[in-house]
Amino acid sequence: MTSSASPAPTPRPVLNRRLAEFGTTIFAEMSALALRTGSINLGQGFPDTDGPEEIREAAVRALRDGRGNQYPPGPGVPELRTAIAAHQERRYGLTYDPDAEVLVTAGATEAIAAALLALLEPGDEVIALEPYYDSYAACIAMAGGTRAPVTLRPHEGSFRLDLDELRDAVTDRTRLLLINTPHNPTGTVLTREELTAIAELAVERDLLVVTDEVYEHLVFDDAGHLPLATFPGMRERTVTIGSAGKTFSFTGWKVGWVTATQELTSAVRSAKQFLTYVASGPFQYAIAEALRLPDSYFEEFRADMRVKRELLAGGLEQAGFTVFRPAGTYFITTDIRPLGETDGFAFCRALPERAGVVAIPNAVFYDHREQGAPFVRFAFCKRTDVLEEAAARLKTLGR
Ligand SMILES: *Cc1c(COP(=O)(O)O)cnc(C)c1O
Repeated sequence: MTSSASPAPTPRPVLNRRLAEFGTTIFAEMSALALRTGSINLGQGFPDTDGPEEIREAAVRALRDGRGNQYPPGPGVPELRTAIAAHQERRYGLTYDPDAEVLVTAGATEAIAAALLALLEPGDEVIALEPYYDSYAACIAMAGGTRAPVTLRPHEGSFRLDLDELRDAVTDRTRLLLINTPHNPTGTVLTREELTAIAELAVERDLLVVTDEVYEHLVFDDAGHLPLATFPGMRERTVTIGSAGKTFSFTGWKVGWVTATQELTSAVRSAKQFLTYVASGPFQYAIAEALRLPDSYFEEFRADMRVKRELLAGGLEQAGFTVFRPAGTYFITTDIRPLGETDGFAFCRALPERAGVVAIPNAVFYDHREQGAPFVRFAFCKRTDVLEEAAARLKTLGR
């Protein structure tokens, strides 16, 4: 009876090794904490008011008229693909064939996943700007790739890319640069010089580029959004990702898109067709209309968000934080060290009890967690009265 002597085998974990490190997102934990403590939730970045009424009505009309209620075409409805191509042409002078070079996705999230799943071989290295949006690391892992973070570091009031560090990060195994501008969570908008250097590196080392530009319309002051695909040699190697969620304040509709060469678009589509296949049928028609809104919509949206940025940034400064005023996005990264704090995780877990506000520790966006430890992110895409109340609550922190 030798078998009775052998120890019981350790059960294999049900979650596979590729995803084991990711756990549940911090947003779930912090949103639950906000609910439990009645705190103002400046953690997750979704607006607390819906986008334009006429666009909401356009979605209702599409539903009623039976447009998009059944599977839409795999690449997206032609009306939306045409509107996306027209938007890229009108804004940036980038021409894409709506039939072959535009792909509609279930938000930017699916575009990121499909691009990485389509373009990476197991073992390929991906350079991403750290801190990074949380889905990047998980999608690189699901694709079997390896991430190589290049850290944006505080410099004179904003987080900047060290171009030498970027160049040094490229190895013979590097396949792809994953760029995000305007950048979440730091609010950095990459400059012409930085983008030129990225483009030159990509050409020199023959790298593919995936660029997440979902905040393209949220740039402030004299910062201007420059799509990477407009730089020399980039159109043919760049997958550009956009989304309606942030620009039109309909984050629940999950309408995103890819623009790229026919070869790259077709590759991304190969993965996308087995993820959702299609999504958001009626909303696609509504977003086609949204993309054609006059410039005044985009200007007012930006001006409105700029007022909100000033309101929250001012409140955070008065409360004692060091504020990195964002040039883009609707997030403010702060440094908590002037408050006598060093650990953003502990600070964010205590903040709801201390001040009735929820924020996100930037460390969750880092591989080098210690680099992000003193930074905490607040979202300002909220109603003015909500931001005023949050600012008033935060002021009690210094006392
Ligand atoms: C919100 C966000 C996304 C996801 O966009 P969806 O269209 O909602 O999927 C992708 N990238 C960044 C940087 C974001 O902040």
